[in-house]
Amino acid sequence: MSYVMYKISNSGWIEVITGPMYCGKSEELIRRVRRVKIAKQKVKVFKPLIDDRYSKSDVVSHSGDSIEAISVDHPEEIIKRLDNSIDVVGIDEIQFFSDEIIDICEKMANDGIRVILAGLDRDFRGEPFGPVPELLARAEYVDKLHAICVICGNPATRTQRLINGRPASYDDPVILVGASEVYEARCRKCHQVIKGVK
Ligand code: ADP
Ligand code: ZN
Repeated sequence: MSYVMYKISNSGWIEVITGPMYCGKSEELIRRVRRVKIAKQKVKVFKPLIDDRYSKSDVVSHSGDSIEAISVDHPEEIIKRLDNSIDVVGIDEIQFFSDEIIDICEKMANDGIRVILAGLDRDFRGEPFGPVPELLARAEYVDKLHAICVICGNPATRTQRLINGRPASYDDPVILVGASEVYEARCRKCHQVIKGVK
């Protein structure tokens, strides 16, 4: 990292960790939050409640690392759960929040909080995902990580969605809870999207 990510003044900021699935966004968020705790700063980590069977759950990386988090279904809830002692806020899976998350992140940063965001920059079609493009523009710091393309071994920047072993169609909904599908990290060349009917 080319910059120093410690809270050195009363000024807050926004940093975004982005890239495709498996690139290490959650790992990196967990690493940064651990260091915040070592520095004895107060931190709270949030994630979207996309599955309402769990009211509270951890941020868990694909390599099995985890850290305690609070699931919220609306961005406003994040503000409600903060108090003046909080130095740092981490949010995972930021792409699943509504656009209101943008103002919430700006407000927290303006109030002196270091805001660490992690989320997908693109959906399975390769299109910019939800509020992430705007957050990338507003952030002071951006890290775009790469996974490894499972087809050719080059750096992967995209998330391949497979439904019953075949590339998903452009028209398939971005969120399909409960469907039997898998996601893979792929590079631009190996990423496939079946053309939609429109
Ligand atoms: P993200 O939050 O970006 O989805 P995670 O932090 O959860 O990523 O997981 C990253 C870990 O995923 C890697 O350290 C590695 O152990 C594992 N992994 C599995 N498949 C791949 C892949 N194709 N490329 C890179 N890492 C992979
Ligand atoms: Zn490839």
